[in-house]
Amino acid sequence: MQPGNGKIIIIGAGPCGLGAAWRLQELGYDTFAVYEKNDYVGGLSASFADAQGFTWDIGGHVLFSHYDYYDRLMQALIAPEGWVAHERESWIWMRNRFIPYPLQYNIGRLPQRDMLECLAGLMQCGSGQPLDLERATFLDWIMHSFGEGLARHFMVPYNKKVWAYPPEMLDAHWIGERVAVPDVRRIMDNIIAGRDDCSWGPNNTFSFPLYGGTGAIWRQMASRLPPGKLNTGIALQGWDSRKKVLFLDNGTEEPYDFLISTMPLDELLMADRAEPLRERPALVSSATNIIGVGLRGPVPEKLATKCWMYFPEDDNPFYRVTVLSNYSPNNVPGEGCWSLMGEVSESPVKTVDAGRLLDEALQGFINTGLIEDKNAIVATWTHRAAVAYPTPFFGRDALLNRSLDHLRSLDVFSRGRFGAWKYEVGNMDHAVMQGIEAVENILFGTPELTLQAPGLINSRRLR
Ligand SMILES: Cc1cc2nc3c(=O)[nH]c(=O)nc-3n(C[C@H](O)[C@H](O)[C@H](O)COP(=O)(O)OP(=O)(O)OC[C@H]3O[C@@H](n4cnc5c(N)ncnc54)[C@H](O)[C@@H]3O)c2cc1C
Repeated sequence: MQPGNGKIIIIGAGPCGLGAAWRLQELGYDTFAVYEKNDYVGGLSASFADAQGFTWDIGGHVLFSHYDYYDRLMQALIAPEGWVAHERESWIWMRNRFIPYPLQYNIGRLPQRDMLECLAGLMQCGSGQPLDLERATFLDWIMHSFGEGLARHFMVPYNKKVWAYPPEMLDAHWIGERVAVPDVRRIMDNIIAGRDDCSWGPNNTFSFPLYGGTGAIWRQMASRLPPGKLNTGIALQGWDSRKKVLFLDNGTEEPYDFLISTMPLDELLMADRAEPLRERPALVSSATNIIGVGLRGPVPEKLATKCWMYFPEDDNPFYRVTVLSNYSPNNVPGEGCWSLMGEVSESPVKTVDAGRLLDEALQGFINTGLIEDKNAIVATWTHRAAVAYPTPFFGRDALLNRSLDHLRSLDVFSRGRFGAWKYEVGNMDHAVMQGIEAVENILFGTPELTLQAPGLINSRRLR
């Protein structure tokens, strides 16, 4: 198909849908429209301002990039003075202390007994049979890569908290080559020298919008689309893959030649009225609950430079907490305020009592010493993302390939974090590029590298 032919409809105005629309506009392609069910854009990367003037994201969002195109896009959307630059300072809170991330290089900070157990396990790593990534569980991978001590003290409890599934339910294939077996010599040197070995530093920085949270990026992108192309507050309810028609919840029907959908893949498949499925495809995901707390007073000294912290222990419900006020002074209503944002995962095997969650989280902030005086709390904000993490479950790739190939044969491109359901290419940069690459595939037949070669994408920078 050449530019100028056929109508392309995009479902969803998160980073992926906006990426697709942006590329169409950039190529001068006019016959397209975007439908977004929310009355705001950004999807899981949206931001919200509460009545007290605090800004919240849907969990800590940091701008990673594997693509020069994405970097250029960010610069085009927000001028240099509109960003705040940060060193990526991440910590673990365990055993009543902060330990720099990653733990394996900083086990010297653990109580001696825990440290020796971690070291003993690490010294066994790499000595046995190589791991068969096609058949291994995520638990096998953890044990193989980190040894029993680190697995027991951090990797297993932490991963249970993040994924909301036990690591033996996840596969290991999606990890690819990304994490190297820890260097025991370096770890021993760190212990002997009493040295912190941090993952941050001058080369490990990220930028955050000065105003409006992460969502400002996507609001800006949406505002630069041609007038009339973006329709918010309108959801896709159903579609007919034979007649190539979409049924929208405002009662209208929209014909299409090509569909780029960023709604969850299982929902899209279920909504096809021409080929109704008997049951929902067995894709697995987890939800995330965000608990924001706005506080009066200066940010405590111990948190003054921290970006985010991981929490493997069970005296609190969250897996991660971000000091969001450190990202931009405008994330709080004024000087003399600061803010914390905790993330609590949820799944059918790790349920959350919605009525008690806020109290449990507040108690967790107290138990971990993040909040010392409850009277300093001036605002709380909660948000539940029902689909937040696309779980890399066993059998995922076979099911995904079948579903995505089937849709592709119908001129439907299901892309993005839940459109393609691949956690390893589910960040904002990946999502934008999946939208862009889908457009280029439709118009020029170009291969979609982000979807097809996640390992390659994550191991190097592209165009
Ligand atoms: C807790 C958490 C932390 C994260 N941290 C980071 C991070 O640090 N860095 C990073 O790069 N990424 C991060 N991400 C990932 C980031 O949020 C996603 O990459 C990004 O939002 C995915 O964009 P998307 O467009 O693919 O999907 P989404 O953002 O999910 O957007 C899909 C859109 O489709 C719309 N939609 C759904 N159904 C319909 C329908 N029937 N009709 C019309 N519209 C519909 C939705 O309303 C939504 O707006 C994080 C995600 C979470 C949950």
